[in-house]
Amino acid sequence: MLRYVTTNPGKVREAECYLPDGSVDQLDFDYTEIQAEELGPIAARGAREAYHHADGPVLVDDAGLFIEGLGGFPGPYSAYVEETLGIDRVHEIADDLDDRRAAFRCTLGYCDGDAFAASPDPVDRGERTAAAAAGPGDAASAGDATADSDEAAAADALPVKLFEGYVPGRIVAPRGDGGFGYDPIFEHDGETFAEMDTDRKNAISHRGRALEKFADWYAER
Ligand code: IMP
Repeated sequence: MLRYVTTNPGKVREAECYLPDGSVDQLDFDYTEIQAEELGPIAARGAREAYHHADGPVLVDDAGLFIEGLGGFPGPYSAYVEETLGIDRVHEIADDLDDRRAAFRCTLGYCDGDAFAASPDPVDRGERTAAAAAGPGDAASAGDATADSDEAAAADALPVKLFEGYVPGRIVAPRGDGGFGYDPIFEHDGETFAEMDTDRKNAISHRGRALEKFADWYAER
């Protein structure tokens, strides 16, 4: 059984549309979200941590809203910004911009403890990011080479396969009652995500696109 790691059951329902019946269930586990400029290292680190927790195959989902006129902000900080500023304030800030184009991005990180052709290492860009993405067991690379940390470091070298999805749009005044998060202020093809029914959003969303790629690969695996 594949465990979809999220505190949001809505994401699992989206995943169920792409995967064989009964093959996925929710693992309500709040993995550590490291600070990074991209989603890949966060998903990779989260997948390794969740794999240790679940002791079985896991799929971690990390997503964010990237606003062009703000240099991609809030991006990986989307959850924090939603909690602190709120989406109305994000819309007001974007409203003052010339460029209100934005994109949702989703990165799925899969780990099942086995070796396989992992994604080209997305975390190997600067030692701090790589070390952070390696997760617990970093002590070994810092020179504290105890037997325990050696073991943890080996475990944390586990391959993670990443799948990315992207959907372009623009920031608008809030419309619609559906969805969650930034959906009411994100417009794609004339409709906000909050105005779309779940099937329509799923068919075009960043998460749907990443899930489609994952499902193709997972079927072979
Ligand atoms: P997380 O990766 O699920 O923690 O999401 C990060 C942030 O992006 C949170 O503020 C979510 O509410 C938001 N977010 C993620 N996916 C979506 C989506 O499909 N629609 C709207 N907001 C989303």
